[in-house]
Amino acid sequence: MSVQKEIPYKIYLEESEMPTAWYNLRADMQKKPAPMLNPQTHQPATLDELSEVFCRELAEQELNVTDPYIPIPEEIRSFYKMYRPAPLVRAYCLEKYLDTPAHIYYKFEGNNTSGSHKLNSAIAQAYYAKKQGLKGVTTETGAGQWGTALSMACSYFDLDCKVFMVKVSYEQKPFRREVMRTYGASVTPSPSETTAIGRKILEAHPGTGGSLGCAVSEAVECATSTEGYRYVLGSVLNQVTLHQSVIGLETKAALDKYGVKADIIIGCAGGGSNLGGLIAPFVGEQLRGEANYRFIAVEPASCPSLTRGKYAYDYCDTGMICPLAKMYTLGCDYIPAPNHAGGLRYHGMNSMLSELYDQGIMEATTVKQTEVFQAAVEFARVEGILPAPESSHAIRVAMDEALKCKETGEKKTIVFGLTGTGYFDMYAYEKHNNGTLTDYIPTDEEIAAALAKLPEVE
Ligand SMILES: *Cc1c(COP(=O)(O)O)cnc(C)c1O
Repeated sequence: MSVQKEIPYKIYLEESEMPTAWYNLRADMQKKPAPMLNPQTHQPATLDELSEVFCRELAEQELNVTDPYIPIPEEIRSFYKMYRPAPLVRAYCLEKYLDTPAHIYYKFEGNNTSGSHKLNSAIAQAYYAKKQGLKGVTTETGAGQWGTALSMACSYFDLDCKVFMVKVSYEQKPFRREVMRTYGASVTPSPSETTAIGRKILEAHPGTGGSLGCAVSEAVECATSTEGYRYVLGSVLNQVTLHQSVIGLETKAALDKYGVKADIIIGCAGGGSNLGGLIAPFVGEQLRGEANYRFIAVEPASCPSLTRGKYAYDYCDTGMICPLAKMYTLGCDYIPAPNHAGGLRYHGMNSMLSELYDQGIMEATTVKQTEVFQAAVEFARVEGILPAPESSHAIRVAMDEALKCKETGEKKTIVFGLTGTGYFDMYAYEKHNNGTLTDYIPTDEEIAAALAKLPEVE
């Protein structure tokens, strides 16, 4: 054992220590995630079929379950260098505040203008779109993080970016909208007059504030009816989790540099991309018999895909154009009650993470919105960073685990993903500060009703 060096507040890697390849955990899984299916034939989706929906190289990545490492193209690494390596922070102040013997670390992904980890995949998706000669991409955005990241990535590669933003968010979150426009994206409030589906919805519901499902449908229609465009997704797909492995690889390199071994690794889970990326290299070690960890996925109680959903084939997108994936899902028609962690309001979970959960390799837990904001505020006051509500789900559970260590006297090492900052979520913080934030937990009947509409697959 090497002598343990004193751990600095922030462990930074050198640029030269940044990963040169993404890690594809599926290659090291004995029992692989179930294949994606063609939504019409229900046969495993082929590369050609997937290439109609995704860029060719991204479709290849989606299907690749054999290569453990996929090189990161130099153009993407150059972009990563503008905001990476991301620091791994030793939460000394939080440890002191909690008076815990546990050691707490967090990987901070909020150090870029978009304010979250989503940029790690946005830049990869924009790169492959450009390389394929596409003119542009379309997407939807609810809370706005994905749209912001994609507009930054598209501006870097000089691609057109059309974002359909749920109308209420468009009106209530003008700052996110303006960040996107500043990076050159066109932002259309959805439903809009620019698509057939939008016009139909507006006719039936004049004055509607829109919904995510409706924005997806418009983005999909726009991409499929415009030459040289593709619709892109910021989470849930395996290609996205692959790109996000840069988070886990850097985290592992930083811990290894100081001879630190994690005991518990925690991440918030919406579609599963940051969590899948964070834990991938550590799960790989465990599957190869080299180390043991506890992995914890944290979901909002209002959208409990892993903990209360069903492991079944479902649509990844409410627009139903992407292939079917086998995953823990609440059904693609499940509409979670509006909560203030928009990035976690997704009906399903990445298929690789779903399989790890099914095999008992990863645990999952839920937390309520009010207790999440309590943790967010305590964290902001002692660690300085104002966390995104999504990230605060992981903070809540990391704090709870550290408090358990205080009771038992155990000196565990806890690592969690701090996916982003909360500057655009001050409306939610305002509610918390005014004491008007509430919790919502769906009933078994509501979940059963949404699950009854799952597509039938033999
Ligand atoms: C989108 C988002 C998430 C959730 O997405 P995953 O794909 O589950 O990682 C978490 N945190 C932030 C800040 C986000 O923007």
